[in-house]
Amino acid sequence: MNHARIFDVIVIGAGISGLAAAALLAREGRSVLVVDGAPPSPPPGAHTLHALDPSLLKALGLAKRGLKFAVRDMSLAGLRADGRHLILTRDARATALGLASHSAADAEAWPRVYAEVQALARAMRPCWWDANSCQTLAQLHDRLEPFRRMGAIAWLDSRFESEALKATLAFDAGCGGLSPLEPGSALTLLWRAAQEMCGLQGASAMVAGGPRALVDLFAAAAQDAGAELRTASPVERILVEGGKIAGVRLATGEVLAAARVLSSLSRRLTFCSLLSGSEAGLGETERLEREMPRVGTARVTLTLGAVPTIKGASVPLTARFVVAEKLESYAVAHAAACAGRLADELPMEFTVPTAADPALAPAGRHLVSALLRPVPLLPPKGWAALKSDLVQKVLGALGCYAPDLARQIVDTDVTVPDDIVVRSGAADVAAGVVHMLADWDVRLGTPLEGLMLCGAAAEPVPAISGRAARHAAEKILKDAKR
Ligand SMILES: Cc1cc2nc3c(=O)[nH]c(=O)nc-3n(C[C@H](O)[C@H](O)[C@H](O)COP(=O)(O)OP(=O)(O)OC[C@H]3O[C@@H](n4cnc5c(N)ncnc54)[C@H](O)[C@@H]3O)c2cc1C
Repeated sequence: MNHARIFDVIVIGAGISGLAAAALLAREGRSVLVVDGAPPSPPPGAHTLHALDPSLLKALGLAKRGLKFAVRDMSLAGLRADGRHLILTRDARATALGLASHSAADAEAWPRVYAEVQALARAMRPCWWDANSCQTLAQLHDRLEPFRRMGAIAWLDSRFESEALKATLAFDAGCGGLSPLEPGSALTLLWRAAQEMCGLQGASAMVAGGPRALVDLFAAAAQDAGAELRTASPVERILVEGGKIAGVRLATGEVLAAARVLSSLSRRLTFCSLLSGSEAGLGETERLEREMPRVGTARVTLTLGAVPTIKGASVPLTARFVVAEKLESYAVAHAAACAGRLADELPMEFTVPTAADPALAPAGRHLVSALLRPVPLLPPKGWAALKSDLVQKVLGALGCYAPDLARQIVDTDVTVPDDIVVRSGAADVAAGVVHMLADWDVRLGTPLEGLMLCGAAAEPVPAISGRAARHAAEKILKDAKR
């Protein structure tokens, strides 16, 4: 193979994960090339952050580079058609007071259950944050067992009585692709509670300037550290020589050499699209194709000509709003999604990003960003046939709580699983219990010497985090010292 240049590490994908890994490696003197088929860009509409790795932000000095948060700790609002919305905040006593009108028993239980979950989630951090899962899992075995075994809804049933509260909390259990009814989905609730944003456990936050500003900060950190960034350069093949990684070939035919490649794509895309079955292991590629999940996530972003007004009890517009009044809507939506259809009632979360950061839209415009799950991952007739139905369902559901909203729409943008599967494959991972509790080495590693994953699909639960990238970079730096 003749090469113009040899890099220490080539990183596939200039999303937050790829850029984070590149920055950490380049600042330690490694020659790093990041290649992406597109310009660095955040996943469309991912306004809410709940899992960014604090030690990564610190290592890259992102606060000094100008990282600012428009909201640091979003409350969670469960919307009710009768206007008696639930508002869940960090203040357990205030939350309990609000719950009292729905259930005296839940109001009494809330501070105790909230503290129980926060404590166990915190104790799980060595497993999910560091590289210390075996010891943590052994120590917490008995306390963890119900979360490992139970579906989120069954676990919530064991703690609370009001459907309003349980249906609101169940939404976050679906963020890894499991249904809140599936055994082990209770663990996703615990994973969410173990995260930290802005120094606050279990918080959700919004970055000032939105996801675009965040990806720009990571890109600048990588380039200032000396990493090279090549966009409009899709990788067509990861090159293997004698069972070892040799570099990548771009779609243009150009060959770039490196003994180490980090892929921020999913394991399935990396193995099945960028390697041949014989290189990646035929059994493994067949398993990845076979185990493709059937459900995914979609996002509908509405641009409005006026501030949306939510009827009923007053709720801050900077909250995360969950639209799922009935627990059964999760089961119905999951069954429909598995059959390739959209359910009539789709559980969703929406935010109003411009309530916190008006600069995200032109003057006088306002954004409503709705996250829907579960939806079919790859419907039989393709997503093009379902998009307008999806938007109608979102408008129908939001209209119950914000009756003027449909009249205020000036633009609609839809991101469906197709877009994400093509982008990085992050939606083609269903985080089961085994994946969530695996060692970092298992989630990042591949059978090929020199190839590791570093993207969201290697996180315990896919999210904008950068933790997989940090672990992959640390592993490369540690291996070099041996
Ligand atoms: C609809 C939806 C909404 C979401 N909302 C949120 C949210 O609000 N908050 C949150 O924390 N998480 C959210 N997520 C999850 C989150 O978007 C992902 O986990 C995260 O963006 C993944 O980041 P990444 O850097 O690992 O990958 P990506 O940001 O997806 O980056 C992968 C990069 O690889 C590039 N690429 C792909 N193929 C090639 C190739 N062959 N050669 C070169 N480059 C290539 C792509 O162009 C892309 O830039 C959402 C997911 C979905 C599906």
